[in-house]
Amino acid sequence: MPIAYFICPDGKKAKILSCLNKCHMRERCMFLPTLRAIASSSDRKLFKPSVTELITGTREIYLKQTNEYAIDPFKTLFALHGQAVHYMNYKKHGDTILAEVRLEDSITSGQFDMFGCVLNNEDSILGDLKVTSSYKLMRALGIYKKDVSTGEIYKSGLKKGQPKLKKQTCFNGVRHVMDWALQLNYYRMLLEQNKYEVKEMVIQALCRDFSTRTAAEREITRPLYLIKINRISDIWLKRYFQYKANKLQQALKNKQLPPVCTAKERWYDRKCLGFCDVSAMCPYADVLEKQQEQPAI
Ligand code: SF4
Repeated sequence: MPIAYFICPDGKKAKILSCLNKCHMRERCMFLPTLRAIASSSDRKLFKPSVTELITGTREIYLKQTNEYAIDPFKTLFALHGQAVHYMNYKKHGDTILAEVRLEDSITSGQFDMFGCVLNNEDSILGDLKVTSSYKLMRALGIYKKDVSTGEIYKSGLKKGQPKLKKQTCFNGVRHVMDWALQLNYYRMLLEQNKYEVKEMVIQALCRDFSTRTAAEREITRPLYLIKINRISDIWLKRYFQYKANKLQQALKNKQLPPVCTAKERWYDRKCLGFCDVSAMCPYADVLEKQQEQPAI
């Protein structure tokens, strides 16, 4: 089902259509065209789950497909910003670049951002645009911090005798790009099924909080990074996406709420507590919220 309501700054829910017709508050919370853009960007017209939906938790997608739900327009602004970046890139394309084409197979469908000579004049590169946080970029680039000894020892206090430590930044960590890799590899596979040769997959990631102190502390020193994505086996990809599609299909057929999203899918509960659009309908989020409300003993 579609997104049906906006959550207004006063906490009330307003039907999107009636909001666009007339705001119940003295002044709109943002420009009307911005609200219209948010409304149309969230209008889903697909008949089968998309690649990005299948990467998401099955419970979340099930709840979105079976309920009318509400979104906070302020929380969708970064996604809208991302779409604007797509639009800017899309408008300038010449003939050698395919852009925003939706391909499908028996499992799912996916719309890639661009394919062709996007980095030089020869290569068939599958490019994807992301607008993301310095935190996600730091993890995607394999940057992490670890404690190292300063060579000194505490001479007094609770830590007396223990070595003094300092944080050291390392650049050789695991690159946490699994979701991006799943998405791009599926687009690659769809392109190859349509007889296109894909030489490389590259993400162009724009950092939305670049130039803040936090981003600098995370060693994000540029507003934009190019991140290469490795190939994943087609057999594994098909198995994974077929498994996720079956789980969703079964739940929809039996009208049965799927098991709670995995810890990774729910960002180790952070998503449930502030970023999941259907948390109001999810029993797991309800339990988490009640736990948060309990006073510390
Ligand atoms: S609230 Fe958490 S567990 Fe529930 S659907 Fe959303 S992400 Fe999944």
